[in-house]
Amino acid sequence: MILVTGGAGYIGSHTIVELLNKNFEVLVIDNFSNSELSALNSIEKITGKSISFIEMDLRNYDLLIEKTKEFDIEGIIHFAAYKSVGESVFEPLKYYDNNINSLINILNFLKERSISNFVFSSSCTVYGSPEIIPVTEKSEVKKGESPYGKSKIIGEEIINDFNASHTFSAINLRYFNPIGAHSSGLIGDKPSGKPNNLLPFVTQVAIGKREVLSIFGGDYDTPDGTCLRDYIHVTDLAKAHVSAIEYNRKNHNKVIPINLGTGNGSSVLEIVNTFEKVTKIKINFKINPRRKGDVPAIFGDCSLSKKLLGWEAQLSLEDMLSSAWNFEKNIKN
Ligand code: UDP
Repeated sequence: MILVTGGAGYIGSHTIVELLNKNFEVLVIDNFSNSELSALNSIEKITGKSISFIEMDLRNYDLLIEKTKEFDIEGIIHFAAYKSVGESVFEPLKYYDNNINSLINILNFLKERSISNFVFSSSCTVYGSPEIIPVTEKSEVKKGESPYGKSKIIGEEIINDFNASHTFSAINLRYFNPIGAHSSGLIGDKPSGKPNNLLPFVTQVAIGKREVLSIFGGDYDTPDGTCLRDYIHVTDLAKAHVSAIEYNRKNHNKVIPINLGTGNGSSVLEIVNTFEKVTKIKINFKINPRRKGDVPAIFGDCSLSKKLLGWEAQLSLEDMLSSAWNFEKNIKN
């Protein structure tokens, strides 16, 4: 059985679908701080399989031990964390408390329960604003520009240090920009309140929930002046987690960072144009000043994932955008 923390969230829910498709049993721990129980019901609907579920906060170690006693856990995929860059700047302690203490508890738990297979949800934010793109896993890890970003960098360091003192196999998956939704339209990215990320903002403008998309910066040193990112379909990303769990079964006893992207950079305007092409809906946008903390351009060299995990992204930008739109149209209220 695989323990998936934060399993009701955006990437977690898609990953559980892929785990169940590969006949893994799944135990979810989530406190619904930024997700909903309905995501778990949707997963069961999509897969026709059931999942075990505990509602709790991972900062409560005693409860974690108590509630998981009856489950035979082979591996852990640790998603549970706060993820808003902007909010983390205003509430740094909230971010460090949750993201770091939950990780420490889950690693103590791993040791106590003799679990040796660990996958951590990291981010390309660890590369900061890179001098050379595409970034490889050997590219420099920077200092971190927000408490959120630092919590991922520190998280990776904690896992490395712990691995030097205790034997287990870990993979730090460094995500680029996951977008899109499951083909069923039943699960997807559903931020509460005003979206921070590009795609939910675009789909909310398309459906009429928001009036205008603000494009942050049109004067970057990029082909069309807007930022470049490596957008990856969340279903592709989810599948990589299953491959990582399978790879760790080889007991390599190391911590391996692996980039997960497509290797292509797309600009904000390309996203808007492709979205319009795929959905035949015009997006009302305005080019505004740059957003503080945005890096001009980043995309990944994703050859290591292919070499080690046998995984590479399959789905196109069109698939990403049409599935995101399909999900938006399905959201009730
Ligand atoms: N972006 C934008 N308008 C928005 C949200 C995002 O222009 O309302 C841009 C942002 O400047 C960046 C890209 O879209 O270049 C992706 O931003 P997102 O927040 O989705 O991900 P990030 O790369 O910051 O993690």
